[in-house]
Amino acid sequence: MSFESLGLRAELIRAVSEKGYDTPTAIQQQAIPLILEGRDLMGGAQTGTGKTAGFTLPLLQRLAEKEISSSSRRPIRALVLTPTRELAAQVADSVREYGEYLPLRSAVVFGGVSINPQKQKLIKGVDVLIATPGRLLDHVGQKTADLSKVEILVLDEADRMLDMGFIHDIRKVLALMPKQKQTLLFSATFSQEIKKLSSGLLNSPALVEVAAQNTASELVTQVVHPVDKGRKRELLSNLIGSNNWKQVLVFNRTKHSANRLATQLTSDGINAAAIHGNKSQGARTKALADFKSGKVRVLVATDIAARGLDINQLPHVVNYDLPNVAEDYVHRIGRTGRAGNEGEAMSLVCIDEHKLLRDIERLIKRDIPKVVIDGFEPDPSIKAEPINTGRGQQQRNNKPSRKRPSASKDNSSSPYNSRSNSNSRSGNRARQTSRG
Ligand code: AMP
Repeated sequence: MSFESLGLRAELIRAVSEKGYDTPTAIQQQAIPLILEGRDLMGGAQTGTGKTAGFTLPLLQRLAEKEISSSSRRPIRALVLTPTRELAAQVADSVREYGEYLPLRSAVVFGGVSINPQKQKLIKGVDVLIATPGRLLDHVGQKTADLSKVEILVLDEADRMLDMGFIHDIRKVLALMPKQKQTLLFSATFSQEIKKLSSGLLNSPALVEVAAQNTASELVTQVVHPVDKGRKRELLSNLIGSNNWKQVLVFNRTKHSANRLATQLTSDGINAAAIHGNKSQGARTKALADFKSGKVRVLVATDIAARGLDINQLPHVVNYDLPNVAEDYVHRIGRTGRAGNEGEAMSLVCIDEHKLLRDIERLIKRDIPKVVIDGFEPDPSIKAEPINTGRGQQQRNNKPSRKRPSASKDNSSSPYNSRSNSNSRSGNRARQTSRG
């Protein structure tokens, strides 16, 4: 199947072929013709499946089919709402690149940066606006964004927008748009809340789904390395060094531990940066750019900051700790194995996390192989402790509850040459605290 056969116009075909795409991905094959017909759509697709081009290409085509106003008062005709600033920036890049040969204008607005340059751009008139909900409402309040002429609305990663508490902002935004419009809703999971939101919003939607819910890409090799909590950093440095990994995305449960880990890795001689919600937008953008360019070897991220990050051919994802919510595991490892590339996802799992691991394995309906790295065997005398969610608990997670035993520290040989298999221990009484 080719992009031409989907009914896309020459300007768009030219832009995608310049990006090096020759075959549409599964979601693109299904979604593009339906969107071109004007149907509402409910898309079940994770990031990494090519969903952005799946909605952006037909959206641009539909806008270009009608006469484009040359006046500076051209109205916002398409709105894409995203949960995070990074995702907004990435979608905006895609809109610009795919629309390069069409006379359409686009802009992106999100918080954490000055509102004034965004206002200047909006005042000049844009056809497509990509926005996070809060900043969009700021613009509406300041009369720099008028949504009354929106023809196409895209809710990207709708499940995450709800998880992040954006439902009220979304409802306010919806009330500002015409009832008659084409609506496309993308979500990796379909919770009751998503179904409730979509039932009032979508009109006889076509349903397209590319991977069964909560399944991880087959292209991602998953492994668990059982290890004591207090030795995770040492193991991580060892894995990075001995395998000579050049680009590793490391997930941390809390902002505090992400910061600390980035500092510690840097002092181990491994260039690392942290990306999370307490960093300024400038610092987040710089960390991501340095990571993409190879200047920074390890990017330590929290779940929300990493959501939607699209880094081409990212080979390694490490769960420094497991997420409190099993679905986040699928999102995390979905950062690798994208667009047909292979990837590796490793989880460093201590005894406190065995319940979280079981929840994940139940969700993805498979056991993840457990591989103990020589020299990092867990100490069987260490007992499980409650997990620090970063929400008020004072307990420090990176201190072992007991003095480490005399496990060999000699890791000069590659740990991957000297692995041994082990099954995760049972009987763990770790208490899982609720997620914030
Ligand atoms: P997305 O799921 O939209 O975040 O896209 C994931 C990655 O796949 C991005 O890096 C896109 O540039 C890339 N991509 C999208 N469509 C195609 C395609 N048809 N062929 C190859 N790569 C693609």
